[in-house]
Amino acid sequence: MKTDVLVIGGGPAGLSAALSAAKEGAKVIIAERDNLGGILNQCIHSGFGLRYFGEELTGPEYASRFVRKVAAEKNISIIKGSVICADKNRCCEIATESGYESISAGAVVIATGCRERPAGTLNIAGGHPAGIFTAGTAQRLINIDGLCVGKKIVILGSGDIGLIMARRFTLEGAKVEAVLEAMPTPGGLNRNIAQCLKDFNIPLRLSTTVVEVLGQKRVEGVVTAQVDENIRPIKGTEQTIPCDTLILSVGLIPENDLFGFLTLDRRTKGPFTDNLGQCEVSGYFACGNALHVHDLVDNVTYESENAGKNAALFALGKLRSENSVKVNCGNSIASVVPQFIKEGSPSVIYIRVKKKIKNAMLFAARPDGTIIKSIKRLAFAPNETISLELPALSGISYDNIIIDASGEA
Ligand SMILES: Cc1cc2nc3c(=O)[nH]c(=O)nc-3n(C[C@H](O)[C@H](O)[C@H](O)COP(=O)(O)OP(=O)(O)OC[C@H]3O[C@@H](n4cnc5c(N)ncnc54)[C@H](O)[C@@H]3O)c2cc1C
Repeated sequence: MKTDVLVIGGGPAGLSAALSAAKEGAKVIIAERDNLGGILNQCIHSGFGLRYFGEELTGPEYASRFVRKVAAEKNISIIKGSVICADKNRCCEIATESGYESISAGAVVIATGCRERPAGTLNIAGGHPAGIFTAGTAQRLINIDGLCVGKKIVILGSGDIGLIMARRFTLEGAKVEAVLEAMPTPGGLNRNIAQCLKDFNIPLRLSTTVVEVLGQKRVEGVVTAQVDENIRPIKGTEQTIPCDTLILSVGLIPENDLFGFLTLDRRTKGPFTDNLGQCEVSGYFACGNALHVHDLVDNVTYESENAGKNAALFALGKLRSENSVKVNCGNSIASVVPQFIKEGSPSVIYIRVKKKIKNAMLFAARPDGTIIKSIKRLAFAPNETISLELPALSGISYDNIIIDASGEA
């Protein structure tokens, strides 16, 4: 089977990319192994769409707006199945209920989302009793299957999913004993700290981790310890919290295992892309959580519309090849996406800083120090993604730009 654009993944990234590719006149196939809408189907709380729609929606409401548009678009067809391999020439194999399907695409959009870091990566002492879940699995069990996984809960990790789940468990009648965070600052958005923890009097313990899980058949408690600046437990600070469930919200990893031919950025764990969403291998585009972990789905949509449009232009032979410059991270910057900018097109750079910086200026500068664009704020913190919009670069006489921030520690 042939198509102009194959979109792998039908979450918010894949749906937006497909719609925008179809708008350019491309024939599009979305391959999705589960239900369209992706992870938003299990995010039944509100807070989605404030930027994109100017109103507050739940995850399923946000997703359904795109699912309806996709269903009405004659240039988009859906294949229910799992893409199990992909090669550099844009040939992909999909495992469907009726067998294997081979698709040769003019362009491929990677919109496979991300997966959660599992318990095995944490090196916590103790056995493997029942009652240890990742936050996403617990969210799915509560919100889709109607099963609450415990009554006395400890949550390790203060990323947004952990915070949302702390509130969700409380609303279900469970007692959240504490949210523990190994870093000295919370991982999730400030609005989620306020609305999910403070409003429900759930304690947040920073610079603290779990060093041991107690219990044989079922979790009976966890031993916590404070950690030093290298995240090493400090002897003598151990405390036991009785509980029947440990929830892990300890990071998301972009899902790119199928694409071994793409180099991944060690900072984001997603492929290197330019401001058109193109990867290093011709005809491959990436967006959404497969590219970098997003805190707001609205940004997933904007980024994916851009990638989908350019994938269509590539497949239809309309994407011009331009010079590009590398986007380098300065000393204060943890990651940037995209890592390259093509001449002649505007860009949105998604930036994470390493540490909190107060009275801060974030800037993009040429190698000679000329500032291209800057933004000032009272503070930038590692728990938020900052968007920096850059005008189209033209007549480039340099090969890189630097993103950095200045201010007070
Ligand atoms: C567990 C979890 C909970 C979250 N909760 C929140 C929240 O409460 N609030 C919030 O703002 N954000 C939340 N997020 C962030 C949210 O994921 C993003 O905002 C957004 O959903 C990312 O969209 P996406 O399309 O990139 O990924 P996803 O929504 O994850 O969609 C990816 C899709 O790709 C499909 N797929 C993957 N591999 C293949 C393959 N090989 N073949 C076919 N299909 C494939 C998957 O089935 C999935 O449908 C959560 C993320 C996770 C992982």
